[in-house]
Amino acid sequence: MGKRIGILTSGGDAPGMNAAIRTAVRTALHYDLEPWGIYRGYHGLINGEMEPLTSRAVSGIIQRGGTILKSARSEKFMTPEGRAQAVDMLRQHEIDSLIVIGGDGSFRGALSLQEEGIKVICIPGTIDNDIACTDYSIGFDTAVNNVMDAVNKIRDTASSHERVYLVEVMGRHSGYIALYSGLACGADVILIPEVPYRVEDVCKQIQRAAELGKSFNIIVVAEGVKRIDGSQNSESPALQIGRYIERESGFETRITILGHIQRGGAPTVRDRLLASRLAYHAIELIYQGKGGKMLGEVNQVVKSFDLAYALAQEKQLNLDYYRLSNILASF
Ligand code: ADP
Repeated sequence: MGKRIGILTSGGDAPGMNAAIRTAVRTALHYDLEPWGIYRGYHGLINGEMEPLTSRAVSGIIQRGGTILKSARSEKFMTPEGRAQAVDMLRQHEIDSLIVIGGDGSFRGALSLQEEGIKVICIPGTIDNDIACTDYSIGFDTAVNNVMDAVNKIRDTASSHERVYLVEVMGRHSGYIALYSGLACGADVILIPEVPYRVEDVCKQIQRAAELGKSFNIIVVAEGVKRIDGSQNSESPALQIGRYIERESGFETRITILGHIQRGGAPTVRDRLLASRLAYHAIELIYQGKGGKMLGEVNQVVKSFDLAYALAQEKQLNLDYYRLSNILASF
């Protein structure tokens, strides 16, 4: 067997991570590399929770959400001592290359390992799709499909009662889930962190929709939306907006906070393919002796980027989608 490579998943779990692990393990075996699974992200790395992964260990997981390697957040890894322990653990196990599947925080952690001489390749895995240098991250497509399924069901009941339905989705800093699912569901109003809102305007939009003859409305709200006037508290924005609409317009409202069901379920075709392609390229880079890279898919082509460069870029949301949704909602 050739050299050992570690594989870990870190930060928020995302459907499709298992498909990436499966491909990384089997492609590694194809190149005569020895794949090791590291459990519970950086937390498990520091504690030495790792073992070799066989081809059979990744059988039957391509269709499963979550991650068989588990995920965790690690405060200790944020300290120089914690990172030194992590590097020590890798050296003790003779692992000098690492694949990190996770989000922005996990990538920052990976960069610090790279600076200590570990060759790291990062794969974007987060439902938020807030990573630059890739059109989509693993898990995003499944998450928006989950939201779409939920809103389809809400629509059935909505069309039977004349109410305003507010659906709160994930996205503390990024409006990707809200914008894509809102557009795909025909939401009347979409609220995203990138475009601060005024609750009075949302209420007016709903009143205008009623004048257009719409008997019910769907509002998709990202959890991290911000008010234009900066007044903010920790209460769910959907609850606050719903209360305001009831009070000012008299419409009945119903609130659904989707929460963790957005992350769950079998990954979509898109996520499985993206995960498989990125993991395959990650092993190829390691086989070529490379490190300090992140992989992304841009215009359907897999590309590698310098990790430090990628982390310095800001992911842009295509606001054309937002303008389109406003046009569609106004007729
Ligand atoms: P995500 O990868 O989904 O963005 P987090 O932001 O929680 O999730 O990051 C996952 C883990 O990565 C953290 O618990 C921490 O151990 C590590 N990490 C995050 N940011 C840094 C950083 N700036 N430097 C070193 N490690 C970090």
